[in-house]
Amino acid sequence: MDQPNDLEGTPKQVFDRLHSGNQRWTNAEIELDLKRQAFTSESFVDGQDPDIVIITCSDSRVIPEFIFDAGIGDLFVIRVAGNVMSHEVVASIEFAILELDAAIVMILGHQNCGAVQSKMKVINSPPIEGSLSPSMTTLLERVKLAADERSDILDHVKANVKYQRQELLQMSTVIAEKQAKKELGVLSGVYLIDSRKVEIIY
Ligand SMILES: [Zn+2]
Repeated sequence: MDQPNDLEGTPKQVFDRLHSGNQRWTNAEIELDLKRQAFTSESFVDGQDPDIVIITCSDSRVIPEFIFDAGIGDLFVIRVAGNVMSHEVVASIEFAILELDAAIVMILGHQNCGAVQSKMKVINSPPIEGSLSPSMTTLLERVKLAADERSDILDHVKANVKYQRQELLQMSTVIAEKQAKKELGVLSGVYLIDSRKVEIIY
């Protein structure tokens, strides 16, 4: 995972934790001991204090706690197919920032995303009217692809996370202001399932 070059202060330190967690996952050297954490030494009853928000796809192969070698209470995770923004998603992110003091927000797409593939299919051969439910149509409308139709799925996944990051900054004044003051890092990235690496896109 490449280091972004414009993070300062706390966001940079928090990013470094994410980065080293992904390196451990990539190298099959994870330290997470779920059994010890969940059943023995630590109690999570009184509250939570995660400083990282991950908005990712619902895909069953993408598990943020594994990808970043993180434990219970470390990540505030929002999952929706295609990792798209909506008012509900933005409200959850704002909750994590304002109430829990999260310092990093990462929109995380992934290699071979089915939602992106579905959107490409719809563009290439539009479905018969009424064959998709209104909710499914709305979801696919929110997935944004690269302009170049020759691009492959991964290019579209990257274009989508970039777009969703911009959407987030436009939909939330609070988040845009905190990012401008360098109190909050807002990143987008792609999880490569084959290498287990997270590539930062922005
Ligand atoms: Zn997906």
